[in-house]
Amino acid sequence: MRPHWTLHRQLLVGMLLGSAVLVMVFAGLIWREQQSFVALRDGGERMISDLIREGTEQRGITLARQYARAVANPLYFLDFERIGELGGHVQDQDGVLEVLLTDAEGRRISDGRGDLARFGEPVPALPTEARRVPAGPSGAEAVLHWAEAQLQVEVPVQMGEHRIGRVRLVLGDADSASMAVWGNTVEQVLRDNQRAHVFWLLAGMGLIVLLAVIGFWLFRRNVLAPLQALGRAAAAVEQGRYAETRALQPRSDEIGDLTRRFIHMTEAVARHEREVRRIACTDALTGLGNRLALSESLESRLLTLRANSGELALLFIDLDDIKRVNDTLGHPVGDEVLVEIAVRLTAACEAVVPDATELARFGGDEFVVLLVGNAVRQQAAVLAQAILAAVHRPMPLRERELNLSASIGITVFPDDAASAEQLIKNADMAMYQAKTSGKGRFKFYTRALDEEVERRVRLEHDLRGAWERGEMNLVFQPVYDLTDGRAVGAEALLRWKHPDLGLVPPSVFIGIAEESGQVEALGERVLREAMRVAMGWVAPPGLPAPFVAVNVSPRQLAHGDLPQVVERALAESGLPAQRLHLELTETAILRDEAQATTAFTRLRSLGVGVWLDDFGTGFSGLSHLRRVPVDGVKIDRSFITDLLRDPNDLALTTGVIAMAHSLGMAVVAEGIESEGQHDLLRERGCPMGQGFFMARPLDAAATGRIFG
Ligand code: C2E
Ligand code: MG
Ligand code: MG
Repeated sequence: MRPHWTLHRQLLVGMLLGSAVLVMVFAGLIWREQQSFVALRDGGERMISDLIREGTEQRGITLARQYARAVANPLYFLDFERIGELGGHVQDQDGVLEVLLTDAEGRRISDGRGDLARFGEPVPALPTEARRVPAGPSGAEAVLHWAEAQLQVEVPVQMGEHRIGRVRLVLGDADSASMAVWGNTVEQVLRDNQRAHVFWLLAGMGLIVLLAVIGFWLFRRNVLAPLQALGRAAAAVEQGRYAETRALQPRSDEIGDLTRRFIHMTEAVARHEREVRRIACTDALTGLGNRLALSESLESRLLTLRANSGELALLFIDLDDIKRVNDTLGHPVGDEVLVEIAVRLTAACEAVVPDATELARFGGDEFVVLLVGNAVRQQAAVLAQAILAAVHRPMPLRERELNLSASIGITVFPDDAASAEQLIKNADMAMYQAKTSGKGRFKFYTRALDEEVERRVRLEHDLRGAWERGEMNLVFQPVYDLTDGRAVGAEALLRWKHPDLGLVPPSVFIGIAEESGQVEALGERVLREAMRVAMGWVAPPGLPAPFVAVNVSPRQLAHGDLPQVVERALAESGLPAQRLHLELTETAILRDEAQATTAFTRLRSLGVGVWLDDFGTGFSGLSHLRRVPVDGVKIDRSFITDLLRDPNDLALTTGVIAMAHSLGMAVVAEGIESEGQHDLLRERGCPMGQGFFMARPLDAAATGRIFG
């Protein structure tokens, strides 16, 4: 978020406030200057006019007293000629406007000009507020009165002790003109002075403003701009755009130092992130990209492909047998296998479509290849073939040779889906389809696959309660003694007749029951039902009673309570334990050998027979048989099928028979479909057999008749 109260704004506002204060201070100073100028001018004027007035008064008093003394005798003797002469003298004095001489009663006698017309006219006395200057050594008492700019001075004319008249002089303000000149000069000087002051004040203010502007510019350039650039770079780093720090140009000051450290820190963070990303996106075991890397790459590829309408194929590869490798040979071997597979897949991709593929380990034994280019559908098919061949090549490992296969599902963008998620889902579905239709092959995704998945979901749903609804039943396939051709027992096989779909094969619904956790309950029902049916089977006198063989899912064994369940069912049905055989596959045993051994020992101590089903398809090898306490093995149908043609199958079958003999175990050959197979097995000393050649699975009633 961008701060509202930025340094920039703070500085700007600070500067404005500072300038305002400065202007106010300067304005105040100028005003004060103006005030003092006015005060100085007025004060000076007043002082000077006071001085002038005082001078005028002194002169007036002196003149009046001199005139009064001089005119005393002529007045006493009424010597008008002398009176006029003296008055003329006074009248001629500078600034004297009027000269008046009155008698003791205040009647006009002379006015200095000899104007006799107004002789005897009474002269009004000076107003009462007129100032009196008392008599002193220099003369008689004087009365002063200012009217307008004229001074009237009145002094008595004495003859000894008698007052014989009065002298009145009127003086003009003689110096006001020179005072005005003086005032103007003073004002001029003061004004000049003031102008100079204001000029310097303004110049000082301008200088301060100029300095502030320069300071602001420098601050912006050296502090603000680098800080803002740093802020922008930090925001870019936060969003992972590390390269943007390259635009920073650190200078040689403290901020430059900070910037340099920031750049170093960013480089360290970028390095660190690259490393973290590398670790997060790499599969530690194989060194290929992992699920995360692939998802990211797929997303970004789809983005570009959408823009320029390109194609992409996604191959989902799943190893068919890795779980068995892990179970039998241990996880370290499993890991070695995965590493070798990764190498082979890389080589295959490089050989078929160099540079057009990306390979990742998606998890466990799943690998994904992205293929881009033109005609990806055809290319993907070729690549899938190459991958299948590469995986299938025998893999020598720890003095063994493993034969592995893979199932591949392929989906194409944009034909099948638009989103990464949906593409992966499609490919996974197609892979699953490849697996269920026989493994070791590839399948393209089709819309029909969606239906297949739907069908599976529906089957899982319908399977619940199928037994209770009476949709399930058991059939029994007899097992024969190959030496005398007699039926000695039968294997119980579960059938499900779906109300809409008809017969669903056990290869389909047993898997669903296992995955959906229904197989434990279902298995127990099969066990009880098989025992119930077997109770009705009787052998001819003198021969042992027929056994019933029940298939047990690895999950039932893993559950842990198999011996208890069997024991309870035996007690409830009343079937002798010797007449029950349990068939388990190698996988069930190898998942947890210790648990299997304990369970088997317990079951065998009850008298129940434990058989290994589908023997030869696992990885346990013959030596494994020594460690697991079993009563017999059933050689898998796949070996019997090619018995007459494939010498390897014959060798293995013969070996198993010999080994079982030496360990005191029973052997059943499964899936005998021809007389040739039957005869060969009998010839090689195989004690028991089972197959369509002798009998197909029968219903309960028919089975009972076989033993009779
Ligand atoms: P499995 O235990 O190996 O059973 C033998 C299978 O081989 C049966 O198939 C049987 O019909 C078939 N078969 C026997 N002789 C021949 C022959 O000469 N030629 C051919 N082509 N096939 C022959 P089915 O009944 O389809 O059972 C398949 C598998 O389903 C069984 O293999 C078993 O693993 C499983 N299964 C069947 N019923 C049950 C059950 O009640 N519980 C459990 N857990 N699994 C069961
Ligand atoms: Mg079986
Ligand atoms: Mg079998």
